[in-house]
Amino acid sequence: SYDELYIKSVIRSIPDWPEPGVIFRDVTPVFKDPKAMRMVCDAFIQRYMNTDITHIACIDARGFILGSVVAYQLNLPMVLIRKKGKLPGDTLSQEYNLEYGTAAIEMQTDALQPVAEANVLVFDDLIATGGTVMAALSLINKLGGKVHEVASLIDLPDLMGSQKIQDSNVAVFSLLAYE
Ligand code: IMP
Repeated sequence: SYDELYIKSVIRSIPDWPEPGVIFRDVTPVFKDPKAMRMVCDAFIQRYMNTDITHIACIDARGFILGSVVAYQLNLPMVLIRKKGKLPGDTLSQEYNLEYGTAAIEMQTDALQPVAEANVLVFDDLIATGGTVMAALSLINKLGGKVHEVASLIDLPDLMGSQKIQDSNVAVFSLLAYE
């Protein structure tokens, strides 16, 4: 129902950014194009309407933009998975490896309360190595939630991140793949 070629025509590929050899897939033009934005959000809304998802957990920062539209339309709680040091109150932190060094993401410890059996949709714009999502899955697991699925606009299957997530027995759905 969505026009994959149209959405791909809107996404911009920036060679050698943020470092030589990397092709950065820039999704910001999707946010700037109401037709593409509506197509993308409607595709996720269609997929996740009439499910037993209890929360949409969105990953900092472009995951917030798409995930909030989906959460609004599905009338579901949206919770934030943020880079370290951004969330106030009691938080849980998970480190993960980057190519050089480490990073950490955090959730508020009450994010999934008061729901007893949270069934969480994890949302981000892009899956590369899968490190960010794997850290997010660990946080949700520690907070007592289970994961319905991981949703992303883009998958980079060559980097094996979505494979790694699926190997951990969590489903992945991406609208687009870039080989
Ligand atoms: P991963 O942890 O290696 O899977 O990287 C995924 C995270 O890095 C996501 O939060 C993305 O927003 C960001 N990211 C990595 N590569 C790209 C890209 O080419 N375009 C946009 N975001 C990217």
